[in-house]
Amino acid sequence: MPPIVKSTVIIVGAGIGGLTLAILLEQAQIPYTILKRSTDMRNLGSLLVLDPSVFPLFEQLYLLDEFMEITKPVRMGCIWNEKLEQLASVSYSDIEKRYGYFPRVVSRSNLYQLLLSRVPDNKIHRGKNVKSFETLPSSSVLGGVKVQCADNSEYHGDVLVGADGAYSSVRQHMYKHLREKNSTKSDTGKRDRVPPSFISIMGETRRDLKEGQYEFAKGLDATLGTVLGHSNNPYSWTVSNMHGNSICWIVTKHLKSSMHKTGGPIVESSEDASCSGGGTDVHSMIMEVRNFPVPFGKDTKTLGDLIDLTVLEDISRIMLEEKMSETWYSGRAVLLGDGAVLAIQDAAVLADVLFHLKNNSHEELTKAFSIYRDVRYPSIKQSFHISLQVSQLMEQTWINDLKLWLMGHMPKFVWNKVHDSMYADRPQVSFLPHVPVKGEIKLAVNKTLFEYTGRSKRGAHASAV
Ligand SMILES: Cc1cc2nc3c(=O)[nH]c(=O)nc-3n(C[C@H](O)[C@H](O)[C@H](O)COP(=O)(O)OP(=O)(O)OC[C@H]3O[C@@H](n4cnc5c(N)ncnc54)[C@H](O)[C@@H]3O)c2cc1C
Repeated sequence: MPPIVKSTVIIVGAGIGGLTLAILLEQAQIPYTILKRSTDMRNLGSLLVLDPSVFPLFEQLYLLDEFMEITKPVRMGCIWNEKLEQLASVSYSDIEKRYGYFPRVVSRSNLYQLLLSRVPDNKIHRGKNVKSFETLPSSSVLGGVKVQCADNSEYHGDVLVGADGAYSSVRQHMYKHLREKNSTKSDTGKRDRVPPSFISIMGETRRDLKEGQYEFAKGLDATLGTVLGHSNNPYSWTVSNMHGNSICWIVTKHLKSSMHKTGGPIVESSEDASCSGGGTDVHSMIMEVRNFPVPFGKDTKTLGDLIDLTVLEDISRIMLEEKMSETWYSGRAVLLGDGAVLAIQDAAVLADVLFHLKNNSHEELTKAFSIYRDVRYPSIKQSFHISLQVSQLMEQTWINDLKLWLMGHMPKFVWNKVHDSMYADRPQVSFLPHVPVKGEIKLAVNKTLFEYTGRSKRGAHASAV
């Protein structure tokens, strides 16, 4: 069934969220263009953990089989202190039974390549650093929205999607507009560019590690673990063995406990600004973290050992905000994404409402965007609170040690409740054939979305059982 109205969508950002939306629009036969800031296609990033909430969508898009091949299941996650004493372990043994799949760990570069392989190359415009946009009056010849890039090129469409990650320039521009219009909306104020809360460097070692001390890399399951620095050490670091027998590592500086107090610099997170293995920022952080111990292998290894097995130019550096935006759309522009799982889920819901647009008017777009926001807001808010709590746990104090101990000893039914709130929502799009939902737990159904897309609540349940 073709879409009711063919809007032209401009997607700013070719990250995980932007590419997923592109694949969905491709399937929905909705015209789109991606504007990508960087010109290169380097393998950047480290590990991402995707969970059962996005796998039915991947199945709908015929991505799941290939995704399974480039990932390893996570059956357990562990947390250690710097002396490599285990503070907590969490088993995911029930997750497959209840929601159909284990969480799986994937290297960002592998996921990126998989998604990219499904987007026609001519839809991606490289070297397009979006600076601003303007909603044209409907009385003008073109109408719609006009996007300006740093190289003075302009793009025109009906809908603009900001999938440009942390410190999104679409969001900043949208909020500036709203401020100029004296909007009373709370989070469009001057503090839009909050200082970053985390700065991470990350990478993936060369593949096919076979030597004795990296024996664990060959394991069929992912051995995923996080180490917390002592109370005077503002770092935590995570490592996992990956498909292809490499090891991915991420080390994060929690700026709230150090640099934040003196006001750290705000650098935009991007493929271009963030990476640069030879850059001084990456280099100085590497020097700070080299001796941190890593809890895998026969001997205790250090992050320095893993860094030495990583191509320096592929080490990326990103800054992340700890901020939840309340305002997600204005006029013809709408925002997407924050964290890989959420960005993929956002893309599914946004593609669905765009498919069912009745016309391209302002009013219809506002209705569609408000449904999108209403559907996604509870998950985003919950996930923001979880990530706030997790980031608080990353500072090692005796209270946090106690909380972690309690977490490791939480009864199964409490974990099930937590997991239900995370995985009950497993969005699929209405314009592709539904795939049978696996696992014991039924899908959460959003009545408003189902009414807008013309599906009945009953139908959704039927496909979920
Ligand atoms: C280089 C890099 C490495 C990362 N590595 C990890 C990792 O190892 N583990 C992890 O958990 N998370 C990582 N992240 C973050 C993670 O990818 C995202 O949080 C998550 O996937 C959500 O995706 P997103 O599409 O919203 O944003 P992102 O993946 O951040 O993608 C945003 C995209 O928008 C582009 N962009 C930004 N500004 C503009 C502009 N003005 N004009 C045009 N394009 C623009 C960026 O270049 C980027 O391609 C990384 C992000 C980046 C950019």
